[in-house]
Amino acid sequence: MGRVSLDTLLQRSEKNMGSGMNAIVKKSALEVIRRAYKEGINAQISHGMRTYAQQDALYAQGRTKPGSKVTNARGGYSNHNFGLAVDYFLTSEDGTKAIWSVNSDWNRVAAIAKSLGFSWGGDWTSFKDYPHLEMSGGLSTAQLRAGKKPSLTDRTGTKTAVPSKTSSKPAASSSGGSSYIKEAQKYANSRDYPTKAKFTKLTVDGYKGPKTMNALLRIYQYYGKVTIDGIFGPKSKAAGSIQSRKKHTPGWTRLIQSLLNVHGYKLAVDGIFGTGTEAALKSFQKSKEIASDGAAGSNTYEKFFK
Ligand SMILES: [Zn+2]
Repeated sequence: MGRVSLDTLLQRSEKNMGSGMNAIVKKSALEVIRRAYKEGINAQISHGMRTYAQQDALYAQGRTKPGSKVTNARGGYSNHNFGLAVDYFLTSEDGTKAIWSVNSDWNRVAAIAKSLGFSWGGDWTSFKDYPHLEMSGGLSTAQLRAGKKPSLTDRTGTKTAVPSKTSSKPAASSSGGSSYIKEAQKYANSRDYPTKAKFTKLTVDGYKGPKTMNALLRIYQYYGKVTIDGIFGPKSKAAGSIQSRKKHTPGWTRLIQSLLNVHGYKLAVDGIFGTGTEAALKSFQKSKEIASDGAAGSNTYEKFFK
């Protein structure tokens, strides 16, 4: 039996979190699952948002209802009631069985979560809640009940929302276009690039068309400090060689990731030149029969744009 796919774990987790989650908490929770998976740990979110009524029912367990106590919080007294908490567990290799033993893998998932800004229920002193992760932004449940909203920091390192449904097949979302090309289009529309690189804001539809390619070329010309005309001529090509010596800064990396995505690769456009980006770049270079060195230079950009 093979290993459960990351997509399956992410999709189940997203479903289990339910609607009403704080966007940063949700995104960070999915990032925990993703990072754990990369380390060979299969983790999944079991719960996220809970209404006051659901929380009251849970509180009754082990008190007025059978079972053992699972929470000390009544409705309105848990960060789950505000979409700020999730619970996790581990799964078997094939993803069919839940594993609730607090072992080294379990603790590792907690550590990953803490690095992303979560507090872990396993660190609580009065009542240890090992599956529990939360981000309250320093607000008490009293403040949350009064309607205050926490200001949370996104530490996932991805600027844009993570595609909710990733696919190991060529990426096609329910609306038809590729979610990864959408990321490239969102990138092009970000940071005031339409103004700086003189193009009309793109429709984020996930389809690689002339407008998308033209926008990315113009951003390339903007970064390369050559005339922004949307035409890849000799000066534009030469701008690529300047870049290859500068190494891959976050700015250039986001462009490279976007360009790889419109050429069929599936990368988070996060500005981090990691092993996934390097492997994709090498693969692209190899497919175009140019030096496969994992550094984007003139020849690589020529292949990207021509
Ligand atoms: Zn919890």
